[in-house]
Amino acid sequence: MSSLPWHLISRRRHEHGEASQAPVNSPGHDDPQVTEGAGAQTLSGATSQLAWAARTDVGLVRGHNEDSFLALAPTFAVSDGMGGHAAGEVASAIAVSVIADNAPTHADDLLLGAAVESANTAVIEGAATGKGKPGMGCTASVVSIEQNKMAVAHVGDSRVYLLHNGALVRLTHDHSYVEELVDAGEITADEARVHPSRSVITRALGSDPDMYADHFTIDVSVGDRVILCSDGLSSMIEDSQIEAIAVSSATPQAAVDNLVAAALQEGGHDNVTVVVVDVADDGVIDLHRRHYLKRFALASALILGVLAALFVVATLFVRNSWYVGANGDTVAVYHGVNASLFGHDLYALSETSAVQLSDLPEATQTHLREGVTVSSEEEAHATIESYREQIESDKAYAQQVANKSTEGTETSQDNPAVPKSDEGGD
Ligand code: MN
Repeated sequence: MSSLPWHLISRRRHEHGEASQAPVNSPGHDDPQVTEGAGAQTLSGATSQLAWAARTDVGLVRGHNEDSFLALAPTFAVSDGMGGHAAGEVASAIAVSVIADNAPTHADDLLLGAAVESANTAVIEGAATGKGKPGMGCTASVVSIEQNKMAVAHVGDSRVYLLHNGALVRLTHDHSYVEELVDAGEITADEARVHPSRSVITRALGSDPDMYADHFTIDVSVGDRVILCSDGLSSMIEDSQIEAIAVSSATPQAAVDNLVAAALQEGGHDNVTVVVVDVADDGVIDLHRRHYLKRFALASALILGVLAALFVVATLFVRNSWYVGANGDTVAVYHGVNASLFGHDLYALSETSAVQLSDLPEATQTHLREGVTVSSEEEAHATIESYREQIESDKAYAQQVANKSTEGTETSQDNPAVPKSDEGGD
């Protein structure tokens, strides 16, 4: 690829071709429309995770635009066609179309590289079958962004940059003659930008069936800005200018507009294409939130389980508990325990009796007011029966004492101590 027909310069100025306005996606829409081909000049769109804009311009010198771009979230690409009119733009259009059809839905750089290699085959076949012209070719710089991962596949001298924390880093290595000179230490990057052989590329789609794509995956995070461009940008302005414009442009649309405008201001010698993608949500916060919610749900389930088990145990305990206690002035049998929980009594009156509290010793009365726990309803009955027997024996004893003290005197009919009926019985 030593002779490059797209170097031919036309003097027609700033021709916009078909000037068809590409559809502009509404922000937040998750079904972005694709624009591939040189007809579209600008396009923007967004998903919940990404926001992007793309702009291509024929420049101020060339007669037609051979660049193509792809903005089909999560896949974005720039392709710079070569081969002259009715060839370069065909090659780049075939490339982005085949990449769109073959790009993985996940950020898998191996599959993304394979998509670029499929595009290479399609461009070669296109030339052979009369689509475009023999000798046509193109570059391809492609990214696929999924949450906090970005897969990159790349061939040629278009570029992918990452703006992270205000600093611009070039992610791709140009497959060009001047880049080899830079790598060899013979010229500087700035000298390469204006070198007479700057457009000689050493790897491209459309000539070698065994061509392979560079591919790798890097981490991206919220706030990162990804810039893809053809050499019509990077040969016209320095990386430091790209960085300054990228940092100061609020939106992807402003960034592509300002970058293309800067390339034109420097002379617009080549077609210039820029795609800017902002990472609005890398899914990391969501991931943390999901982990937190999962842990919270697990902890809640455990606590609820323990509470439920305690409730069952407590209920069983209360249902199997009995006590004898005071019910006003009399003694009664209670089911449950003599306590309240959250204003709810844990006992129920089961059975009353005629046993008077006041007939019992003080200590017993105190115990009864607190509740005398028994192991069963039968034991409760037996306890009350024992109280009754105790009272009767106490009364009998009192009677005996009274009889003794009144021995020899007339028994009064009015003496209340005399048991004359079965009063106090059941
Ligand atoms: Mn170019």
